[in-house]
Amino acid sequence: MKRAVYIHVPFCKKICSYCDFCKVLIRDEWVNSYIKALANEIDEYYLGDEVKSIYIGGGTPSALKLIDLLKLFEVIRKFKRSPDCEVTFECNLSDINDTLLKVLRENNVTRISIGIESFNPNMLEIMNRESDFKDALNKINLCKYYKFNNINIDLMYGIAGQTLNDLKEDLKLFLKLPVTHISTYSLIVENNTVIKLKNIGNVSEDLEAEMYDYIVRKLRGAGFNQYEVSNFSKVGYESIHNLTYWHNEEYYGFGLNASGFIDDVRYTNTASLTNYLNLKYDRDSMLMTKKQKMDDEIMLGLRLVEGINIKEFNEKYQEDIFELYPIKPLLNNKDLILKYDRLFINPNKRYVMNSILLKMI
Ligand code: SF4
Repeated sequence: MKRAVYIHVPFCKKICSYCDFCKVLIRDEWVNSYIKALANEIDEYYLGDEVKSIYIGGGTPSALKLIDLLKLFEVIRKFKRSPDCEVTFECNLSDINDTLLKVLRENNVTRISIGIESFNPNMLEIMNRESDFKDALNKINLCKYYKFNNINIDLMYGIAGQTLNDLKEDLKLFLKLPVTHISTYSLIVENNTVIKLKNIGNVSEDLEAEMYDYIVRKLRGAGFNQYEVSNFSKVGYESIHNLTYWHNEEYYGFGLNASGFIDDVRYTNTASLTNYLNLKYDRDSMLMTKKQKMDDEIMLGLRLVEGINIKEFNEKYQEDIFELYPIKPLLNNKDLILKYDRLFINPNKRYVMNSILLKMI
């Protein structure tokens, strides 16, 4: 099974109020050392195998200056890519221009992911973000001009104060954009974020459920296939990289606070930029037991609409999934459905997926 690669670029030009990712405001003097530390990490830990996807995320990779971006791509050239390797690059709308797109094209990027989140001025103000519909349309058309046909946009919903109508307006605009993939996120208020400090919460649970239901119906109606609980794509444009996670397959994680799963070991790098720049990756590693791997496979696999293939699961682990997990009561309760060896969450109960998973594990 080929592995995937995640590369973390922790620099942003502005900090969003809800963000708890590992990121810092960009400072030129750090970027150069960071790329050197990244190159060193890859030299130390990459096993030289062929990879099926590379995901350059962050942070905001598009915040890098051209010269740094070229250095980053030079580093990424170390990976042996399979012929159909998916290479995703995360962008902020404001960074998209001819120069950036030419560089991405020349470096075989195949997929662009843009964090739009919302076009609603009130939501954007709360999130400390900027997005404008006309600008988004122009920039996405520019991406298409440079032959990027695989484009994801992110949608966030569920921030206190947002109404169902606000969401409907957002979705109406999102669906006017010529993209092939939409990732949706219901706001999670994390500790140490600005919204937490300002006491800004979520919409009520009932409204959140109504919003989720509306998103699913609207996107499906517009020809997007829901392949994961929060991810929708046109047929053939599912994210190869993210499917690696949900299939519980192995992947490298390189960069500040990046996580990986290699040779049955899950690891996370240091979150200290100082340590990372000094080549102290301080990997926090854990060898996964068979039980932990099976639990992960179930937790991740049930996020997928198609769920888990129980025959493959039993063969892979030489176990009987029915003997190890309380599947029968969940089937009786119609939380889970079993059809042609596939075990999946009842589509009507996807919204309470987490509680079903807790009962399962
Ligand atoms: S959400 Fe993205 S762009 Fe915003 S601060 Fe976090 S990493 Fe940076």
